Formats: sequence, C-alpha cells, structure tokens
Amino acid sequence: MSDCIFCKIVAGQIPSSKVYENDEVLAFHDIHPFARVHFLLIPKAHVATLADCTSVHEALLGRMLLLAPRLAKEQGLEAGFKTLINTGRGGGQEVFHVHIHVFGGGEPAKRS
Ligand code: 5GP
Ligand code: ZN
Repeated sequence: MSDCIFCKIVAGQIPSSKVYENDEVLAFHDIHPFARVHFLLIPKAHVATLADCTSVHEALLGRMLLLAPRLAKEQGLEAGFKTLINTGRGGGQEVFHVHIHVFGGGEPAKRS
C-alpha cells in the first residue's frame, strides 16, 4: 500500500518513536497522544481494517492482543490500560491500516 502512512512507518520512510518491533508487528507512540502513554500496535503487513481481517489473521491478532499488556507494562502502565480499535469511517478510523490503540496513565503532558 504505497499511500498508507503506517506502511511508510513500517518501511522507515516516515520516522516514528518505536516502542517495540518484531518480524510481524510494530508498536510506536501516537503522534497526537490522548493519554500520558499512548502507542499504536500494528501488523507490518497491510490490512485496512479489523473488518477486512479473515481467518488468515486470526493467530496474528491473537498475538497482538497478548503483546498489548506486556508492552503497556513496559511503558509504565502497571495499573492497567485501555485498548481501542476504530473500524471503518463509521467507527472513526482515520488511518486505514489496522491498529490497536493502547493508552492510559492519565492526561497527556501539555506540549509547550
Ligand atoms: P484512528 O483514528 O485511525 O484509529 O487512529 C489513527 C491514529 O494515528 C491517530 O491517533 C493519529 O494521531 C495517529 N497518527 C496519524 N498519523 C501518524 C503518524 O504519522 N505518526 C504517528 N506516530 N501517529 C500517527
Ligand atoms: Zn498500510
């Protein structure tokens, strides 16, 4: 997907603040955090929305969900965190490369 922002982040064409990476997923801080800790967990391979996922993605999605608490804890969210997957225009999705928002820890620090 040549025009996909998140594919460009995966390819290193757009910089990101990385939280975690392995051969199939990437996690990076959201550019407009709505909590003190707010990162996005994405598959490296492009799939537009959760509704476009099929049984092919079943194990990957499972591994992503299991990774979220580990990464959240590593980012300081020991007391818990929220997850969010916006799906489709009606679901408020803005970037059409499936992603899990992981966030928590209260209000984001004010930017100067
Ligand atoms: P959505 O509304 O699609 O669920 O969320 C997309 C998220 O991606 C938003 O929270 C937005 O701040 C974040 N985002 C959009 N473009 C970029 C970018 O270039 N870099 C990073 N790190 N986050 C981005
Ligand atoms: Zn993509």
